[in-house]
Amino acid sequence: MYLVRKRKLGRSETLDLFALESGRVYTMAKVWFWRIVRRKGIWLSEGTLQRLLANGQPTLLHSQSAQKSIQCFFEALRTWRRARTRNPDLRPPRKRKKFSKIIWKDQAIKVREGRLVLPNTRGTAPVIIDDWLSAKPVQVELGWDGKQYELRASYKTEPRETSQGFVASVDLGEVHSAVMGTDDVHVILNGRLLRSKRRYRERLKAKLSAKIDRKQKGGKRREKLITSKRRQLKKLDNQIRDIEHKLTTAGIKALHEAGVRKLVFGDLRDVRVGYDKGRGQNQRMHQAPLGRIRSYLVYKGLRLGWQESDFQDEAYSGKDCPRCGQHNNPKGRNYSCASCGFKAHRDVVGQVNILHKYRGVRSSHVIGAMASPIGIRWTPHLRCSSKLVGADHAVSLSRIPRL
Ligand SMILES: [Zn+2]
Repeated sequence: MYLVRKRKLGRSETLDLFALESGRVYTMAKVWFWRIVRRKGIWLSEGTLQRLLANGQPTLLHSQSAQKSIQCFFEALRTWRRARTRNPDLRPPRKRKKFSKIIWKDQAIKVREGRLVLPNTRGTAPVIIDDWLSAKPVQVELGWDGKQYELRASYKTEPRETSQGFVASVDLGEVHSAVMGTDDVHVILNGRLLRSKRRYRERLKAKLSAKIDRKQKGGKRREKLITSKRRQLKKLDNQIRDIEHKLTTAGIKALHEAGVRKLVFGDLRDVRVGYDKGRGQNQRMHQAPLGRIRSYLVYKGLRLGWQESDFQDEAYSGKDCPRCGQHNNPKGRNYSCASCGFKAHRDVVGQVNILHKYRGVRSSHVIGAMASPIGIRWTPHLRCSSKLVGADHAVSLSRIPRL
């Protein structure tokens, strides 16, 4: 698996030059590709076009970087082909690019005396990044983050040896981003702040779009508003990502300490009675905000040497009693069984039921009283280390009082 380190580089004319050059190579590939389609009716393969263009004009970029820029065009073409099956109106990539990202590959990259050296073609000075304390990356990408240049260095990390341990189930949701745990340990990632940020984002988007629509097309005020909208939404996106990262890191850490080495996700994709409105709609309703949380949890677990995660159909998991199997309709935050008197935190019931289903038991008589869950809530003005250590500084862990 890969890890990416980012570094902001500001703006400079030298970097502009290389981004322009990469954009030129991309555009050249695009132009020639469509020209040959038009004239000969042939869709060239990536390899053929690479060979054709290799003898063309010289470029400032390292030969492999130039190849990568051409690859970017074919990547866009592949994305279009995949998406076309779902949306036939989608148009293929035809836009010229003035600027484009530059990619350096493994063999080209060098680290010397604490500096990262990114070579260009012979006779052109390399891009040098000072104070490079990390190891040599396997790939480096120089892109634009909307304001300035950003260096993205990829590292291949050997996942730690997969180890056996407890399986934890995960119930993803809106109010709580995730409820996860075993029979004894339950961790709740509080998602209220996330939800309010997401809602605010949608409101802001609607408000600004309406404002933009009232302005004259091509006008200066309209341009200004569009830039402002982009900036404001980007800021909110960054806040949302930050909260999601800190919550999931703290959650995984808590589970790791409890001996968990595998996750099982309640699968929202199959059955949801009353919510079945076709595959697309179901996915939008259930997965859109949840997919990212899930992917964060998965890779953060793998990074600690956990096993590959699994899915478990979770129909009715919020309603069945985990002790006797009775079907109840809980109201409010608390779950209580009409048949056996079992009481628990409502959100934890779904999580425990997913675990039971995964093990192939409908209910478990061993469950007496459930342990009170650990709540993880994001608090502002606190920093989070990129490593798992130190994650508690970013979030507050609190014991939710026992029922
Ligand atoms: Zn019961």
